[in-house]
Amino acid sequence: MALNWVEIDLAALRHNFQQAKDRVSKDTALLAVVKSDAYGHGMVPVARELAAMGARFFGVSKFWEAMALREAGITQPILVLVGIEPADAEEAVRQGIRPALYRLDHAEMLNDAARRMQTKAKVHVKVDTGMGRLGVPPGSLESFLEGLWRLPHVEVEGVFSHFATADERDKSYSALQMERFSQALDLFRRKRIPLTYAHMANSAGTLDLPGAHHQLVRPGIMLYGSPPSSDLHHPADLKPVMSLKARVVQVKSVPQGHPIGYGRTFTTPHAMRIATVPVGYDDGLPRLLSNKGSVLIRGRRAPIVGRVSMNMITVDVSAVPDAHEDDEVVVLGSQGTERITADEIASLCGTISYEIYCSMGKNPQRVFL
Ligand code: PLP
Repeated sequence: MALNWVEIDLAALRHNFQQAKDRVSKDTALLAVVKSDAYGHGMVPVARELAAMGARFFGVSKFWEAMALREAGITQPILVLVGIEPADAEEAVRQGIRPALYRLDHAEMLNDAARRMQTKAKVHVKVDTGMGRLGVPPGSLESFLEGLWRLPHVEVEGVFSHFATADERDKSYSALQMERFSQALDLFRRKRIPLTYAHMANSAGTLDLPGAHHQLVRPGIMLYGSPPSSDLHHPADLKPVMSLKARVVQVKSVPQGHPIGYGRTFTTPHAMRIATVPVGYDDGLPRLLSNKGSVLIRGRRAPIVGRVSMNMITVDVSAVPDAHEDDEVVVLGSQGTERITADEIASLCGTISYEIYCSMGKNPQRVFL
């Protein structure tokens, strides 16, 4: 019996994908972002499920992730959001893997690979409309496109950009990015470069910025059941997909004035019942939850007392008198009418749900429901 494990609710994943689908017109396809092991949810099972639901594209950040999807039999086009390295050019062309393109030297090597194979390398040009991270700056786009023009084996299938603040209530910066993106699209038109897909909407853009949908949207976090932020104008009805569970290994009565855990950061203010739960920061439970978070036992909240250690936490079950050894503990997810969300944990730790999912999802005991 595993001491702790992650459960992935595929019905919830399907529900969330449908929510994204319902927000876009029939002319807009969906690229499901499954990078980083589908934010910890299991890239291959998630991609299989979403392929069956009609995902047109998949998005990953690394070439090897795209190859893993191909090896698992995923046939949809895959966009490598961070681009690829020269050594992978031939295989990318062979496998129909589309790199994000923002460097002409990469375009040249893709052109060479595709020429040798007597075919074309499909790419999506990334334009930096204001994120300041990856992409061709708008001011350099014209010369970039002139460079591409000389590479007949490179086919620009798409052009895309990424929002910096689409999850914020104030959409003025997103509007500026959208304006720059449409100027970039005009340039493609003027240069007579035909495009099948323009895309810039992440989950926040999919929900809040219908004007940014174009031919493709790229939701990630909403598929996994968390809103990109609590500031959206048009939030969706999302169902969390991941749960982290464990079993109580020990319950004991501790007298008043007894220290609990490393560093003795908690001392029992009165006699207490303490349950030890075998889950810790190695399982993705942030150490910042020490003396802060709680877990669910028998449908009630049991506060974490003392430090989160690598593989264990101690929780106060004084208010759960029937708590028992071997009881199921919900660290993330719901039990009865109570729920602990990734957003709750994230806000206690000054981070975002994305990071909580990526960390907890590394659990080797992952069960797909
Ligand atoms: N598009 C790109 C380029 C991304 O990097 C990401 C994720 O970081 C997404 C789309 C999906 O974003 P979200 O998970 O906020 O929907």
